[in-house]
Amino acid sequence: MNETILIVRNLRKYFPVKGIFFTKGYIKAVDGVTFTVLRGSTLALVGESGSGKSTVGRLILRLIEPDDGEILFNGMNVRKLKNTDLLEFRRRTAIVFQDPYSSLNPRMTVYNILKEPLEAHNIDVGDVEEYIVSLLERVGLGKEHLYRFPHEFSGGQRQRISIARVLALKPELIVLDEPTSSLDVSVQAQILNLLKDLQESDKLTYLFITHDLGVVRYIASMVAVMYLGKIVEIADTDSIFSDSRHPYTRMLLSSIPVPDPKVARAREKAKLTGEPPSPLNPPPGCRFHPRCPYAMDICRKEEPPVVEIEKRHIVCCHLYVRR
Ligand code: SF4
Repeated sequence: MNETILIVRNLRKYFPVKGIFFTKGYIKAVDGVTFTVLRGSTLALVGESGSGKSTVGRLILRLIEPDDGEILFNGMNVRKLKNTDLLEFRRRTAIVFQDPYSSLNPRMTVYNILKEPLEAHNIDVGDVEEYIVSLLERVGLGKEHLYRFPHEFSGGQRQRISIARVLALKPELIVLDEPTSSLDVSVQAQILNLLKDLQESDKLTYLFITHDLGVVRYIASMVAVMYLGKIVEIADTDSIFSDSRHPYTRMLLSSIPVPDPKVARAREKAKLTGEPPSPLNPPPGCRFHPRCPYAMDICRKEEPPVVEIEKRHIVCCHLYVRR
C-alpha cells in the first residue's frame, strides 16, 4: 500500500470579503497546504470549525477553484483537466456530505437518486434496477427501500443512501466531510464500520474531514491537523495519539474524554483555551501564538518552518528548529 494516489502541494484559497465599495480583505481559508495520500489509506484532516479543512476537500475535487497550488490525482494535474478528462475525474472521485437530510433530493425516490449519477456519466450497468438493488444491499438496505423517498428514512439510513450513491460510479477517492457528526453515537459506529468494510473490499481511499478525534483514531491511518488554513502537524495515527509534538495537536487531544483520572489531570493542563483568531486577519508569525503556552518571541514574528521529526512525521513549530 505504498502507491500515492493524491499529492497536494501549496494549495491556496483566499475568499474576498466585500465592503460597500471595495474588497475589505481576504479570508485566507487555505494557505499553503501540502500533503500526500496513499492508495487504499485514510487521511484524516482534523481541526476546529473554520480551520479550512472542508475547503481543502472541495478544492481537491474542484467543487471550488483553487487560487494557487498543485493537485495531482493518479499523476494527473487536476487543475488543468477539462471536458471529458474532467468528467472522468469526477467519476473517479466523490464526496459524502455531513448532512444526509439536505444532500438528498426530497422529491426523488431512492431508485432515481441512485440512477442519476449513472445517467449523468452515461454508464451502462446492464439491468439498472438490479444494479441499484446491489448497491443498496452493499450499504445494508434492500429492495423494499427502492421506491421510497428520503423523508421515510432515519438519518443513518439516509447517510447509507448517500454512500450508495457515491459507490454507483465505482470511485477511487472519496472525500468524507464530517459524514457521521449529525448522527447518534450508535449510528455513527455503524456508518464507520460500513465505511471501513467498503474501503477494504473496494480498495477505496478516503480523505476524512472531521473535528472528532475519537472518530479519527478508529478510521484513519494518517492524520493532518489544520489550524487557520495551515497544516501544523502530519503523522500516522498512532504517532499523533502517542507522540504528538505540536502544542495545538496536544491541546486538541486534551479534549478527548479518558477514563484514567491521572491522564485526565495531565491533559487538563494542556486544555485548549480561547477562540481561533479571525482568518481575515490572522496573527503574524505562527498563527497559533496567541493561544500557545510555549510562544516565544520568534513565534510572534516568523512563520514556523516545516520540520521532519521522523519519517512521515512533520510538524510546523519553532520549538523543533535546531538553532
Ligand atoms: Fe507555539 Fe511557537 Fe510552536 Fe507556534 S511556533 S506552536 S507559538 S511554540
